[in-house]
Amino acid sequence: MAFTIAIDGPAAAGKGTISKALAVHFGFPHMDTGLLYRATGLQTLNGADPVVAAQGLDPQDLEADDLRTSEVAQAASRVAAIPEVRQALIDFQRAFARRDGGAVLDGRDIGTVICPEAEVKLFVTANDDVRARRRFQELTSKGHDLTQEDVLADLQARDARDSARATAPLKPAEDATVLDTSEMSIADAIEAAAKIARARMAQGS
Ligand code: C5P
Repeated sequence: MAFTIAIDGPAAAGKGTISKALAVHFGFPHMDTGLLYRATGLQTLNGADPVVAAQGLDPQDLEADDLRTSEVAQAASRVAAIPEVRQALIDFQRAFARRDGGAVLDGRDIGTVICPEAEVKLFVTANDDVRARRRFQELTSKGHDLTQEDVLADLQARDARDSARATAPLKPAEDATVLDTSEMSIADAIEAAAKIARARMAQGS
C-alpha cells in the first residue's frame, strides 16, 4: 500500500533533516528531489542543454560530489523554472512517491504537483536568518569558503525565483501543515513531523 510523506519548503528550512529522520523512523525510502534539479543544473554549467540533461538523467548523476555548491544551487533553480525540465522528471518522482510500502520525498512541489494525493503533507519553513545560519554552518563544516551573507543572498535569490515561476511554484499545498522550525531544535522538529505522520497513519486511508 502507498503512503506518501511529502515535505516541501524553502531552501535550508530543515526539510532534508526531517525527511531523512522520518524515512528511518518509518522504514520508508527517501528521495531528495532537489538533487534531480541540481544534477541537471550541474550539466548545464558544463554546457549541456537543460531539457536534454533532464531527459537523460542517470541515478549515478545524483551521486556527483559537487552538487552542494551555491553555483550549482543557482543553476538548479534556473533549470527548475523550465516546464520541459520539470515534465521530464515527473514520472520518476511519481512512481517513487506511490511505491508500495511508503515513501518520503522532499522538494518544492511534492504536495502540490508530484503527489497531490500524499497522505501527509508538510510545509517546513524557518526565518531567513535562521536558514542562512544553518546552511552556513553546514557548508563551512564541509570546507566551503563563503560568508553567511553569501549564503543568505543565495537562499533569497533562489526562494524568489522558485516562488515566482509559473510552473509548480514554491508554495504550501492548501491541505499542508506548516511547520515553522525557526525556534525548534532538530529533535523537536523531527518529533513534531513524526507525530503528524503517525496520527495520519493511525487514521488509515
Ligand atoms: O532542495 P534544494 O535546495 O537542493 O533544491 C535546489 C533547487 O532545485 C531549488 O532551489 C529549486 O529551484 C529546485 N527544486 C524544485 N523542485 C523540487 C526540488 C528542488 O524546483 N521538488
